[in-house]
Parts: sequence; C-alpha cells; structure tokens
Amino acid sequence: MALVEIVKWPAPILDNPGEPVTEFDDKLKQLVSDMFETMYAAPGVGLAAVQVSIARRLFVMDCSGGKDPEQRIVLINPAVLAVEGNQNGEEGCLSFPGIFTPVERSLRAVVRAQDVSGNEFEVDGMELTARCMLHETDHCDGIVFLDKMSSIKRELVKRKIRKLQKTGKWV
Ligand SMILES: [Zn+2]
Repeated sequence: MALVEIVKWPAPILDNPGEPVTEFDDKLKQLVSDMFETMYAAPGVGLAAVQVSIARRLFVMDCSGGKDPEQRIVLINPAVLAVEGNQNGEEGCLSFPGIFTPVERSLRAVVRAQDVSGNEFEVDGMELTARCMLHETDHCDGIVFLDKMSSIKRELVKRKIRKLQKTGKWV
C-alpha cells in the first residue's frame, strides 16, 4: 500500500481521455488499492486514475467517506447509460485543492462499469453519488469540473488559481 501523488490542474494529463483498461491483473489491483488509500488520506470522495498520472479509464469513490463499506467502489471503464433531472450544488476536486464552486449536474445517473476482476455491474445513483460518478467519469474523458462551469465562474476560479500560483501556494 502506498500513497500516490495527486496532480494539480493544469497538468496536461487531466485534459486527455484515458485509455480503456484491458488487463485485470495484480498490477491493476495494486493501483486501485493505492488510489483508495490516497483518496481517503486526501480526504476526498472520488479519485480518477488520470489524477495520479495513470492515463487509464478508472476511478475509485466512496461518498460515505469510509463510513459505509458498501459505498467503497471502483468503476473501471465507466460508461454513463442514462441521466435524469437536475441538481446544483458545491463541487470540489482533489486536483483543485481548496476550490469549491456550484456546478450543475444530473440528479440521477446510471453508470455501467467493470470491477477489478473485469465483471460488469451498474450503479444507479442519486444526488452526491450521481454527482461523483459524473465528475469522475468526466476525468476519464479528459474533462475537469472547470469545463462544466459558466464562463464567468471559470474565469474567477482561474484568476484565484493564478494568484495562488504567484504566491507559491499552488505547485
Ligand atoms: Zn476531480
């Protein structure tokens, strides 16, 4: 088990779609285990492989923050099958530490994925679960939450990050 480094925006890897996972081997299981440990330590409720410099389509999530073992799940090669409704709420991202801003998302999302053994399953999630799955699937597609904001909000966030970069607080 090891903590891995989470890259910050604007790391180029965050802008590129990950490659599908094809090998369901021990190396993948080790990566997933390291990603869970890194996510809990951060702490966060979701972490995609591209955020730890691995250009593959998978993410880990636990919207209970470690309290409910059933919510500890890894979604490999995720695909959004259906979405419904609308929600607007504060969203954060481990690649944007300290930045929290309202982002509009679907209220419900059905996502199909594979587990560490390659078996397919579906998650039908509402509210935070839906938000988290959509945010993390976006990462697998090379999309960050900045891309989902209104242009005014995006500029404000970029300005804030530039300020932090200048003072050496965003490295
Ligand atoms: Zn994120």
